[in-house]
Amino acid sequence: MGNSLNKFEQFNDVFKILAKCTDDYLFILDFIEDHFNITERGAERFNIPCADFYNALEIISGAVHPEDKEMLANNLEMIKSGQSSEHDLEYKWLDKNGNAVWISCRGQAIYNEQGQANYLVGRISELGRKNKIDNITGLYREIKLRQDILDIGKPGTNGFLLLIGIDNFKDINERYSKEVGNTTLQGLAECVVNIAGNKAEVYRMSGDEIMLLCTDAGPVIDDPAKYMYKKIRAAVDEKIGEKGYRLFYTISGGYVYFTEYDNFGLDYIDRAEFALRLAKIRGKNMCVCYEQNDYSEYVYKLELQEALRKAAENGFDGFELYYQPIVNTKKACIYGAEALLRWQNKKFGMVSPGIFIPLLEESGLIIPVGRWVIEEAMRQCLKWQERCPGFRVNINISFVQLKKSNVISDIDTYIEKYGFSSNNVLFEITESGELESGYATHSILEAFHRRSLNLAIDDFGTGYSNLRYIKEMMFNLVKIDQAFIRGIKSSQYDYMVVKQFTELAHSLNLKVCYEGVETEEDFKCVMELKPDYIQGFYFSKPVPVAEFEEKYLGKEKVF
Ligand code: C2E
Ligand code: MG
Ligand code: MG
Repeated sequence: MGNSLNKFEQFNDVFKILAKCTDDYLFILDFIEDHFNITERGAERFNIPCADFYNALEIISGAVHPEDKEMLANNLEMIKSGQSSEHDLEYKWLDKNGNAVWISCRGQAIYNEQGQANYLVGRISELGRKNKIDNITGLYREIKLRQDILDIGKPGTNGFLLLIGIDNFKDINERYSKEVGNTTLQGLAECVVNIAGNKAEVYRMSGDEIMLLCTDAGPVIDDPAKYMYKKIRAAVDEKIGEKGYRLFYTISGGYVYFTEYDNFGLDYIDRAEFALRLAKIRGKNMCVCYEQNDYSEYVYKLELQEALRKAAENGFDGFELYYQPIVNTKKACIYGAEALLRWQNKKFGMVSPGIFIPLLEESGLIIPVGRWVIEEAMRQCLKWQERCPGFRVNINISFVQLKKSNVISDIDTYIEKYGFSSNNVLFEITESGELESGYATHSILEAFHRRSLNLAIDDFGTGYSNLRYIKEMMFNLVKIDQAFIRGIKSSQYDYMVVKQFTELAHSLNLKVCYEGVETEEDFKCVMELKPDYIQGFYFSKPVPVAEFEEKYLGKEKVF
């Protein structure tokens, strides 16, 4: 025994020196004495009592992840019995908090004169440190996926990538804590691994995303990726149910099938990421398959947004206001005009406001562009007032301007700058879910009211038709959406809704404007309902300044 202790101690001394030169943990296991020694940092990291202990196999077994105990015991048995002299395993130890830590353990057996394995000497290194394994979920990391996908290497592989993400993961981290976020992610990882079984390899991507790589899927026509997503979702729901819905969350998925004609490789990862992004944009808790068309549209919109930014920076190049007459039905005359934004560009031509306005809103560009619209429309209106005293203009205001800029102060600035009378301008705000959300918009609308700025609720009937705003008299005018007006001739229901609503508005002293009156038949039909104003192609489409001046300005009777 004295001899063996010496050898043990000799190794120990060498380890103390080597420990300073490596991140790995060096160890010696004495099979005969059941004695173990590991460099000091190893004892601090793993779930073992100290760096040097007897009763080695039992204690080590307690520090190994339950899933891996048997494999390790078998391997050590093979070495002890002389069937194998090399120890080379990747498996999981537990850290001081009981979390799994992926390690690579390599060692060499040393035999005594009787040919018995006496020692195992080697090193343990943490795979997480080498970036291969994620220590939170125990999954391979993206770096490994990138190798694996290149290894598949050939077009025509029958498989897919499926990327799963937790919806609103940031909220979980912020509302609870990072630890709760991590536990949630671990729970999801377990579900994914269970469902993937041996059909797919699983990887932790950045943030809350987990990727499945399947290289042997069934026929694409059966949509096996979607099927797998649904099974994962069901497993997640079940887990949440078991925990009593204390922490409820949903998951989204994006997937892409490998195809024969494409360059195989890394851009498949980008495609799965793009599909997941679409799933989130489209409302979350769903799964989207990558389609080339969606991607082309996305790129088109990005380019458009970039061109819009350049145009705005470049003196609002290509932006122009068109005007559509608004007809006063009692006097059969033109009451004013709605200013409607247009944009054109060499590359994209004339782009529909239905496309570019949401892009301006998403990027926040609607704030400077909206300011430009307010100033431009007021200047134009003043000019027209020289020929037509009291001429009025309606200006559209986006909820982004309301929420993210001080639009009232902008309006005041121009009213002051041009000595404009606030009676001659009216601001149209579209009725939408965005308007609904919260106290903030409510108080901004109140500020309009206090400043005696005229407000219209635009596209009424398409959003929540919030009668509360109307009751609180925040608006002066209600513009009923074209969809109702279009339906008025064919649908008794639409007819009744418009009729009742017009009467209700009138009883509250509000004015009513009908949008989208297109034909003479429409016109005759809606006139029965006694709107105050009408706007529609029947009188005119929105037209450029010169055309408006020529055709409509100062015209006495329009019908
Ligand atoms: P909106 O404010 O409801 O404007 C009325 C829209 O209905 C205009 O579309 C107009 O061309 C269209 N329209 C008018 N009469 C008829 C008709 O008889 N039949 C049909 N089918 N359509 C008719 P446009 O110009 O394409 O504008 C679409 C939307 O873009 C506007 O709806 C408004 O929400 C937004 N928008 C336009 N200019 C601005 C702006 O300067 N700022 C903001 N924030 N939004 C704007
Ligand atoms: Mg409008
Ligand atoms: Mg409208």
